[in-house]
Parts: sequence; C-alpha cells; structure tokens
Amino acid sequence: TDSDTADEAVRATCDDASTCKRFATSKGYWTDLYAQYFVRQIGERKAPEINRGYYGRVRGMNLLIDAFLKKTQCYCQVVNLGAGLDTTFWRLKDENIMPKKFFEVDFPMIVARKIHHIKTKPPLSKPLIETHSTDSLLLDGHSLDSDRYCIIGADLRDLPALEEKLKKFQINPELPTLFLSECVLVYMTPEKSSKLLNWVADTFPTAMFINYEQKERFLSAGWESVNALDMMTVYSMLPWEDVARIERLEFLDEKELLHQLLQHYCICWAVKDKLSLGEASI
Ligand code: SAM
Repeated sequence: TDSDTADEAVRATCDDASTCKRFATSKGYWTDLYAQYFVRQIGERKAPEINRGYYGRVRGMNLLIDAFLKKTQCYCQVVNLGAGLDTTFWRLKDENIMPKKFFEVDFPMIVARKIHHIKTKPPLSKPLIETHSTDSLLLDGHSLDSDRYCIIGADLRDLPALEEKLKKFQINPELPTLFLSECVLVYMTPEKSSKLLNWVADTFPTAMFINYEQKERFLSAGWESVNALDMMTVYSMLPWEDVARIERLEFLDEKELLHQLLQHYCICWAVKDKLSLGEASI
C-alpha cells in the first residue's frame, strides 16, 4: 500500500544518517569506535558542509545528554526514539556514564537489523554481557533485553503498543528519564508527534526531551520549560579548539551553504522536573 511505501522511505533514512556519521567519523570529525560495526563500508564521499552539519548535530546532542546524566548522577533512564543504528549506548559504557537502563525504539525491521549486528559482532555484544548480571538475557530476532540496554520494535504512532512494550521491558516512570529524538518526529504528522510528546509529559513527571529537527516542529504541550537553539548558535558555542580542528580537516569554499544548513535545523530540549533536580538549568 501507499503507507507501506511511505514507511519504507522513512526506514531508509536510518541508513542515510548512519552512513553520513560513518563517513564523518572516518574523516576524523569525531570518534565513534562502534559505527564501523553497523556500517561496514565508509561509502561515498560526502560534502564538507554535510560533515560539519553532522559534527554540530552529534556534538550538540552529546553535550545535552551528558549534562542530563551528570545532573541525575546516572540515576536515570534514557529512551532513544527512532534510534536507528545509533551508538550512544556504547559510548556511555566506555565513558562510564551509563544510565540505569538505556532503551531504544524503532520499526521492527530496523530493530531486527540492529540486533543481527549486535549478535554477530563481539565488540557490540561484549558490553551488553558485561553489564548483565541476571540469567534473563533476552535476544531474539525482534527484541533484545538485558539489565542495562534494550531494543524495542514498535511504531511510535501507536502509543498503546509502545507503552505496553516499554512496561514489559521494565521502564520506571518515576525515574528521571531522558527522551531523545534525533531527526525522527519530522517523519510523523504533527498530530502524531504531539500525541507522543503529550504522552511523555503525562507519563514521566521528571523528564527531559531532546529533539533535533527543523525549527517549527517542536510542540511544547504539557512541558514546563522549552529551549531551542538553532544549529548556527550551537555550532558557535562548541569548544573552539575542536571546531578549529575539524574546519582544517576539509576545505570548505562556500560557507554560505553550511550557514543555510545550520540555520535550518535546531536542537530543542524541554523539561519536567517534579523531583526538582534543577534540569531547567541544563
Ligand atoms: N536517530 C537516528 C540518528 O539520528 O542517527 C536515526 C535517524 S533516521 C533519520 C530516523 C529514524 O526514525 C529511522 O531509523 C526510522 O526508522 C525511525 N522512525 C521514523 N518514524 C518512526 C515510527 N513511526 N516508529 C518507529 N520508528 C520510526
């Protein structure tokens, strides 16, 4: 049907994101020891402004993620919505800043692919086994559940099913919870994405939601405070030594294109702070 074709196109964006990240890391924009296990080939060259755009995106998201983990002293959960082949869990494990549990959600087809990579590549599976102490490791084609990491196949537009699956994998609504959506809500209708944001606000009294997207998208329904920075601003706030370093990696003739690209996107973050952790100051 038409909607199956549309969903297939949305799933394909997962490969766009991971191949662009793989390429940028191969050039040295940032370090990701795990991207290579999800995308084997470095693939075609990407334009320097694309690489710089991804650099700002990844660095910006990581700064906010790390600030939340610090604020909660890792006494929290992370839920990555539309996670695709994201490698954040492994980074947090290596940096010793793991939340109590890290959840990922994506379409079952993407989840099956990710699980296959994890199953067959020891550098990916080892950290899961190391952080798992009970004898209940669940690993089948459609889901993976360990003490500290789980992947759930679900459609983010079907909230009752999503809620049921998160419960089944022991999500705790009382724990401070960080939601991530990196280029995901834009693929849903505004009605569906606002239902999702409302559901999160209603269900998790102490939470932060980080969304990377075009400016117009974020709807603040039910959230106490919302911040947004366009990527031009984020880029200018990143540590200047590192920005200077990556700007030397590849020559960029047309600065105008990069500026247009950065102005087009933003990072928004919204908080609800029932436990008064001071999340609003992040
Ligand atoms: N967040 C990852 C990143 O930035 O590297 C992947 C981004 S990719 C552009 C968008 C992801 O959202 C895809 O993996 C896609 O399958 C997922 N997605 C979009 N709509 C979804 C939905 N309704 N339910 C579950 N996953 C969805």
